[in-house]
Amino acid sequence: MAMTLFALVLGVVLVLWSAVLLVFARPLLARWREPVFRFPVLVIESDDWGAGPLAQAPALYRLVDVLSGVQDRSGRRAVMTLGVILEVPDGPRIAVGDCHDYYGIALDDARFEAVRGAMQVGIEAGVFAPQLHGQCHYWPPAVLAAARKDEAVRHWLTGPEPASTEMLPSALQSRWVDASSLPSRNLPERDIQAAAAAEASAYRRVFGTAPQVAVATTFVWNEAVDAAWAAAGVDTIITPGRRATCRADTGAPGCVDAAMLTGMRSSAGPLYLVRDAYFEPTLGHTPQRLIDDLRERSRQGRAGLIETHRFNFMQAGESALTALDAGLRGALATLPALRFAAPADIARALRTRDPAWLESRLHPRLAAWTARLDEVPRFRRVAALTGLALPLAMIGGRT
Ligand SMILES: [Zn+2]
Repeated sequence: MAMTLFALVLGVVLVLWSAVLLVFARPLLARWREPVFRFPVLVIESDDWGAGPLAQAPALYRLVDVLSGVQDRSGRRAVMTLGVILEVPDGPRIAVGDCHDYYGIALDDARFEAVRGAMQVGIEAGVFAPQLHGQCHYWPPAVLAAARKDEAVRHWLTGPEPASTEMLPSALQSRWVDASSLPSRNLPERDIQAAAAAEASAYRRVFGTAPQVAVATTFVWNEAVDAAWAAAGVDTIITPGRRATCRADTGAPGCVDAAMLTGMRSSAGPLYLVRDAYFEPTLGHTPQRLIDDLRERSRQGRAGLIETHRFNFMQAGESALTALDAGLRGALATLPALRFAAPADIARALRTRDPAWLESRLHPRLAAWTARLDEVPRFRRVAALTGLALPLAMIGGRT
């Protein structure tokens, strides 16, 4: 009798667990298919460098010093991507036309020589990995239209000094929508194609090669941008794990049309990487936060792409550098097998399924998979309620 009851309860539990697994099959399978890295990987992803204030040059040299001073076990120095902006507005010329015509100053202009020089020193030292952030950190016709009705934007757009795009209203910092009024409007595809081709050429003029990796300003972009970048030579796109395609009427990024995990591909071809941790010392993020985020990504078998911005190193100067240095050194002390890498290295490992980088053994893959499941909306709660969390924790080696 007791045996029959036990068998019955076991049967009910197994049916219940199967039902839960079936309901969540899609996100669970996607996280099983997502590659698992064999060791912790760290990239500091830093946006907004390039055309802009000349004070970037000394900030970049200081970053070269800090990054060069930290090496992983293989001797590779710490790597920071430079999300590059290739143009800022030519304020005085735009002022003459009363914000009806747009003129830019490109990064290859003589006045940015010091900034280009500092970037080059870091690239040659192997500590900077440039990637395309955009021709400009805005869509020029949108910012012109906004300037004609908004005094603050007009002031920004027509200023005499190379402008800091961080000062623009957030919605206008999105390059791939027209956010001159909200909600934003989509851009014509042919305009996107022409703009992507032009920015890839501008990038080549400065760095000598087509951009391989691109990251959309404010992470607002769409399928047409993916395709236009692919046509211009981009084979890897940095994402936050989802694609917002508009600015909503509140100005916030919205119209999310896709979710992505590392190693998935755009239908246009490029590989997606996921950058979903943040280290902005001026916003109070501590070195410990960087270490904790990296440890969590490592537990999940994921590379840690950690986002930061130039404003930290422009505004906070030495204190941001000290925090970065402490974060890098602390990460190495906590995770001694850590490797520094550029996104292109990670993309290559994923594309070639490099066995030196990617795990094929069952147990480490199961451990990474179960660690990833906590992020699936509602699954964690349902798994706890039904007791499914227990066998999953055993599979993951967490009991
Ligand atoms: Zn940016």
